[in-house]
Amino acid sequence: MALFGSKPLLKSYREMGEQFYSDQRPTPVADPSLISVNPELAEKLNLSGSELESPEALQIFAGNVVPQNSQPIATVYAAHQFGGWNPQLGDGRAVLLGEVIGKDGKRYDVQLKGAGQTPYSRRGDGRSALGPVLREYIVSEAMAVLDIPTTRALAAVTTGEQVARESFLPGAILTRVASSHIRIGTFQFFSAQGDVDSVKTLADYVIDRHYPEALQNSENTEPYSALLACVVEAQARLIAKWMSVGFIHGVMNTDNMLVCGETVDYGPCAFMDKYHPGKVFSSIDTHGRYAYAKQPEIAHWNLSWLAQALLPLMDEVEAEAIKKAQSALDKFSKVFGETHQKLMSEKIGFVTSSVETSQLYSDLLELMAEQGCDYTLTFRALGDRLAPEGEATIPRDVFILPEALNSWIERWQKLLAKEKIDATTAYQLMVSKNSAYIPRNHQIEAAIVQATRGEGFTLFHQLMNVLANPFEYSDENKQFAMPPQPEEEVKQTFCGT
Ligand code: AMP
Ligand code: MG
Repeated sequence: MALFGSKPLLKSYREMGEQFYSDQRPTPVADPSLISVNPELAEKLNLSGSELESPEALQIFAGNVVPQNSQPIATVYAAHQFGGWNPQLGDGRAVLLGEVIGKDGKRYDVQLKGAGQTPYSRRGDGRSALGPVLREYIVSEAMAVLDIPTTRALAAVTTGEQVARESFLPGAILTRVASSHIRIGTFQFFSAQGDVDSVKTLADYVIDRHYPEALQNSENTEPYSALLACVVEAQARLIAKWMSVGFIHGVMNTDNMLVCGETVDYGPCAFMDKYHPGKVFSSIDTHGRYAYAKQPEIAHWNLSWLAQALLPLMDEVEAEAIKKAQSALDKFSKVFGETHQKLMSEKIGFVTSSVETSQLYSDLLELMAEQGCDYTLTFRALGDRLAPEGEATIPRDVFILPEALNSWIERWQKLLAKEKIDATTAYQLMVSKNSAYIPRNHQIEAAIVQATRGEGFTLFHQLMNVLANPFEYSDENKQFAMPPQPEEEVKQTFCGT
């Protein structure tokens, strides 16, 4: 049996019309070798798990063999990158093999990232270095476990070829799975050319694939305003989730925001160690445009470009269309605010959020910033204060709550008591919402260094194992809970190019 079974890969995106893509087969590589496959994801996608590690699957993941019936494409898009307009972009190093229908009945893209040049490669080589492939694999899978909508990693292979970056590095290819790869920038590409027909084709496709509810509103006359509202709400919920786990995307250009609401493009991303709202990791984000606390505002700005593209579909009268777009965009702050408040209140043990819980976590964040507290472990250690006897708690040599938090802790416990929440209930909520492990930069870096030196993937696999159960702390995996020592701290991250 073949990896994709006897079923052909689907190509609904291609069927929208040739203005949306270029035919592009992956460029074969010299000597592929398997790094990792994801049986759990394969099962969700109805793929043959037993075939994942077969020689044939390896050749598919490497781009050396194109699955039967697949007509691979590179898709076209545009973008605002760091606020500047770029009218012509596209999959410069990614090839969409096709789509599969998952066990949940939904359609998923299967894409090879790093599969060679395409018409959209500009001066790029169409390839990926091993480091960024491992980083995307680790972080995207960790996000999935944390219940944050994200593209996923089905497989990673080395190519047996070198790629030229600042130095020569081993090349690799990631098989990426997404609910779709349609970006805000995909809409912008056609909108900028005044090609309203293609914007409409794309909008209808997105409604059909992701937001059928946009057709089910009461009058059924406003599908495009409803579509915009759906994307706004999905993105608002997504960014609230990022914020709650201390995730910084790092390169929120409009081509890196998917209309399906999944996180995409794990380039210079990072989970914060020490909390600071102004935190930036990306080496090229010199003005802090994509700093941690700026993410909601930037998402909203990006969504306004989607709104702009959809305007001609919303109403013939421009002023009316603008009103409708504004009303959809206005949903962002409400949905973001409510979701964020709920998630943050849960992190401190309250199932229901209120003005008081919001004030409490806001004050906590302020103290954490002052004290340079580890974002993840502060919440976890607060929960540990309520732990029943015998529960595994974060040991003091990993993390200690600073004394400066003591009066806050008193206030917190008073509010729990006032709301009649007993310690065990709060504890159980907190350990289920505050992971002990996150993909820490210094650990990802160590795994990348080991692999890039040709010393194998032991650290990568160890990290993947620990991150598969991030809420269960065990002393055996203590080292993976540790924040970086000052000399281990990764201060900058880089785009995957
Ligand atoms: P990113 O910063 O990863 O979102 O990439 C921005 C654009 O550059 C996208 O259109 C990518 O497809 C393209 N790109 C990134 N890296 C490469 C590469 N090595 N070769 C060709 N195109 C690339
Ligand atoms: Mg990108």
